Amino acid sequence: MADSPNKEDIKGTVLHLEKMALFDGKGMRTVVFLKGCPLRCQWCSTPESQKLAPQLGYDADKCTGCQDCVTICPKEAIRPTDDGQKVKTDPDRCDHCFECVTVCPENARKRYGREMSCRQLMEEIEKDDVFYFHSGGGVTISGGEPLIQVDYVKAVLSGCRERGIHTAIETSGHVPWENFEAVLPLIDAILIDIKVHDSGRHRELTGHGNARIMSNIERIDRSGFPIDLYIRIPLVPGINDSEANLLATARYCKGLKKFKELHILPYHRMGVASYRFLDMKYPLEKIESPNIEMIEAKVARLKQEGIEVKIGG
Ligand code: SF4
Ligand code: SF4
Repeated sequence: MADSPNKEDIKGTVLHLEKMALFDGKGMRTVVFLKGCPLRCQWCSTPESQKLAPQLGYDADKCTGCQDCVTICPKEAIRPTDDGQKVKTDPDRCDHCFECVTVCPENARKRYGREMSCRQLMEEIEKDDVFYFHSGGGVTISGGEPLIQVDYVKAVLSGCRERGIHTAIETSGHVPWENFEAVLPLIDAILIDIKVHDSGRHRELTGHGNARIMSNIERIDRSGFPIDLYIRIPLVPGINDSEANLLATARYCKGLKKFKELHILPYHRMGVASYRFLDMKYPLEKIESPNIEMIEAKVARLKQEGIEVKIGG
């Protein structure tokens, strides 16, 4: 029988790392964003995290048509447009070698995602050990949906535990319970969304109902592990910001033993450019970010329910 791989050799698809982050958990953190997500939230601000595989982005506004990428591409996947001003890429020919990204003088081509072994990731994580120690921070594994790559996440969390680093995951919750079971003993905090309380509406807005998410939250809450549970609502004007929806989630939180805080995450449009680079349609073209007075009024109402509520996370 073949030996099972050393956990440090397990590879995952990482979108990017955010160092010295002051969000997604307490203290100063390294946030590891992984690729791949089972949901398709209409307000998603990181469309580049949805697919598991690495992807190539192209910004036609930056492209000068120099054709350096056409010359370097080993698969002949890139061709000039008819007017010679821009280029087009055939996704069926592209094998994601990303050589064109390296040569583009205008940074008009972008790489989304790379394979990293657990060992390589732990080397990056360890560089900031002193900051975790002094700030009470640690590592948060986010996505996409990190628990799609559960073996990788387990290996990284285990590496953190061995080094005494605080661990958190930021999850959609929409994964089989077994994926949670595999990592619960290695986690100090879980940040999990209840995007919309009504399951039918959740399905309309994300592609899936929320029954699995709610079931997973309740099983985490009943588990014997000392995990801090943070519930989050991405606040999208006109979509999920009704008082009825917000109060339903606030009251649900009150019934959870491990619940610590409700985080209100205001909708923003920072991901719009990524849709363009990936040639994807942005579903919420007409929605603007909520203003701070509106957010504060919602938070004040939710605090009347007797729970901790915070803007951002
Ligand atoms: S990633 Fe590689 S194969 Fe794909 S278009 Fe660029 S150079 Fe060609
Ligand atoms: S190398 Fe960059 S600027 Fe030149 S044609 Fe390709 S994408 Fe455009």
